[in-house]
Amino acid sequence: MNISHRISNILPGGSDGWEVFYRARAMIADGVEVTELTIGEHDIRTDPIILEAMSRSAASGHTGYAAVPGSAALRDAVADRFVQRTGVPTTRDNVVITPGGQSALFSAHFATCDPGDTALYCDPYYATYPGTIRATGAVDVSIPTRAEDAFQPSFEDISSRADGAKSLLINTPNNPTGVVYDDPTMDGIARACIAHDLWLISDEVYDTQVWDGTHISPRGLPGMAERTLVVGSMSKSHAMTGSRIGWIVGPEEMIAHIINLATHTTYGVPGYIQDAATFALAQGPALEEKVGAPFARRRVIAKDMIASQNLVRMVPSGGAMYLMLDLRGTGVPSMEFANGLLDKHKIAVMPGDSFGTSAAGHIRVAMTVDDAAFAAALGTILSYAQEISK
Ligand code: PMP
Repeated sequence: MNISHRISNILPGGSDGWEVFYRARAMIADGVEVTELTIGEHDIRTDPIILEAMSRSAASGHTGYAAVPGSAALRDAVADRFVQRTGVPTTRDNVVITPGGQSALFSAHFATCDPGDTALYCDPYYATYPGTIRATGAVDVSIPTRAEDAFQPSFEDISSRADGAKSLLINTPNNPTGVVYDDPTMDGIARACIAHDLWLISDEVYDTQVWDGTHISPRGLPGMAERTLVVGSMSKSHAMTGSRIGWIVGPEEMIAHIINLATHTTYGVPGYIQDAATFALAQGPALEEKVGAPFARRRVIAKDMIASQNLVRMVPSGGAMYLMLDLRGTGVPSMEFANGLLDKHKIAVMPGDSFGTSAAGHIRVAMTVDDAAFAAALGTILSYAQEISK
């Protein structure tokens, strides 16, 4: 069968790093009770007031083709939110609505890289990054980071791989580490992008989940607005993962081209989803805080529990819905740890290796079950670490 190199190269090794997750799902399908701490899916559903807005819109007839760039009202709402959060002048012409952040990541790379161009991203990384880059025909090149630096990339780290590259993808607050990039890191990123003439693709889908530190959007840094594409989404901020609604914010000229791409690929996002999103954004930060609050609470629970022992360390995170735990003290590889934990205790976590080589010896724990179940699972994880420590 003739299959394009581009599509068969999305996952050339046949592995997407999600094996433990798939195994957990298979066990659940077989009726086994598993504590699922793998995927970034809230334990609450989309707020009923958003669903009512969605239903009202659909019932009133917004089930036909919708405006491909996004409705004027939604693009305005995203632009306003951007101005409120960052102070950077932004209008609807800087915004294109996409079916989720994932589609925005694809479009941003498609728009900045030609086939064969190098696209940079930081390791550890969200599992789809390399495949998304390869899906566009670009060449994925990772920038390793170090646990000792809380996995924050430096100017030198980026510069060492940047020759001839077209883009750099960053993610703060970060999945999988939960780390919020600080001022010196953002300054180094901006300097590297300017020095090497890179587009910066800034994945900010966790921008409402900041528990320590401040989220800095690089689009607001000097000289960066014209070379930055911000990827946003309502999946995490409004527990709207299944609605597939996100956006790109960037320079007008580039956004116009990405709208052309949308016309020839997705043909936009359903109108009733856009109306629900517009309604949700109009509720302001209060709703976003309500959706994020459980993760902030569970992070405090985790910090206390982890402080009571000294084998497992928590990567100094400041945001998102994950904890990255450093298990290197146990001497057990993280894949072995995650598989053993699933077999013995029916708790599913992601091995750090699922997110690249830099997070080997770590596991990512999603804080996505209720507080009591989360505390119980974390207690088991910590005692399992003691038990199998070499
Ligand atoms: N970026 C990051 C860092 C993510 O964690 C996710 C989802 N887990 C996405 C992008 C894509 O999210 P969505 O397509 O649901 O907006």
